[in-house]
Amino acid sequence: MQLLRVCSGGSFDYDKDLIESLSKSVIDVNAFIGSLNSPGKRYYIRVNVLKISPGELYDRLRGYGLKVFFDEVLEEALWFPVEGPYNVKDVGRYVFVDKRTAESVFVGANVYAPGVVKAKGIRRGDIVNVVGPKGIIVAEGEAVVNGEEMEKMKKGLAIRVYKSCYRLPKLRELDEYAYGYFYEQSFPAILTTHVLDPKPGDIVIDMCAAPGGKTSHIVEYTSGKARVLAFDHSKSKIKRLQETLARLGHDGLVEVFKADSRYLDIDFPWIKADKVLLDPPCTSLGVRPKIYDEKKYIDVVNNARYQRQFIKVAYKILKPGGILVYSTCTVTLEENEENIAYAEKIGFKVIEVERIVGSNGKGKHYFNDMVLRFYPHIHDVTGYFIAKLIKI
Ligand code: SAH
Repeated sequence: MQLLRVCSGGSFDYDKDLIESLSKSVIDVNAFIGSLNSPGKRYYIRVNVLKISPGELYDRLRGYGLKVFFDEVLEEALWFPVEGPYNVKDVGRYVFVDKRTAESVFVGANVYAPGVVKAKGIRRGDIVNVVGPKGIIVAEGEAVVNGEEMEKMKKGLAIRVYKSCYRLPKLRELDEYAYGYFYEQSFPAILTTHVLDPKPGDIVIDMCAAPGGKTSHIVEYTSGKARVLAFDHSKSKIKRLQETLARLGHDGLVEVFKADSRYLDIDFPWIKADKVLLDPPCTSLGVRPKIYDEKKYIDVVNNARYQRQFIKVAYKILKPGGILVYSTCTVTLEENEENIAYAEKIGFKVIEVERIVGSNGKGKHYFNDMVLRFYPHIHDVTGYFIAKLIKI
């Protein structure tokens, strides 16, 4: 039996070259890595303004006794304070879950059956610890079904969590969630659509759309009056995108395609876009909380190379004068500023992003000061990058 650790102690295993790469874009690498193990102090949701006003949702949430606040900058954003850290006891009975599940249970979510890896010998009603990979205990809760069922069930509640390392309201269990009144999204991710600034009548392409956070925001931002085309190459991700759109009530307002966006210019030669959002897969180094992480510099190199393939196609599918917004949830130069340098080489020009919050990247550590950068250890949000470019 492996040694169990409570709430923290997961290691961040980054190879020497990755640390060196990080030191070019993150001034204090230790503080950065140290911040990844805890959640930010604020947990954001975006109000679906096509269904409800921010004020009305605020009142309903306050009506449940929840602590919720308006964001100072973004009108459609509300946030909840993340409470903790709390102490979780080792109760001697364990249900093992996958990393993604462990990271949401870490901040207070319940365990649903698909996230369960092993629940041998657990009986309904047992008090158990939820344990993530590497033996990290993230919560205590009550099993609501027997262990064998948890392992087999395709969906449904497995463990009701009542003590976790950090705590947030169980938002997905609210009627307001089912009604599609909000979408959980980080502050910089919400900001990205503001940077894109799509207008009614625009043809907007979301090249890497699933699970649909930004696609759905584009619909809301334009009151459903832009022509939005959303692409993703993965069948299961397309399903999640469609579920998001259906829950929010946007299903008729987006054209969804399963396609490899590296070839959109060839497979969809009729596309002439006003705006393109490119939010490609990345090393996700800015995402937190993480109970542990393992990455190598080669992951950065491979991601950066992959991302450039999309940038090239974004250029081809845009009208002259069209806008590309490029965003990632990572902090390396290779996947961010260096890719923007590549974009400039093929004919894009960077447009300065209005600085609402975030680091303007002045100083020798940065490629230029036209882009937006967010750091978890400085701005207390997801580590993020946003750049705006025009096709000239
Ligand atoms: N923009 C989304 C998150 C995107 S994550 C949101 O705001 O919710 C990156 C997505 O890119 C993943 O869903 C992944 O399936 C998709 N992706 C990866 N490679 C792709 C490719 N070659 N073509 C299209 N989509 C791709």
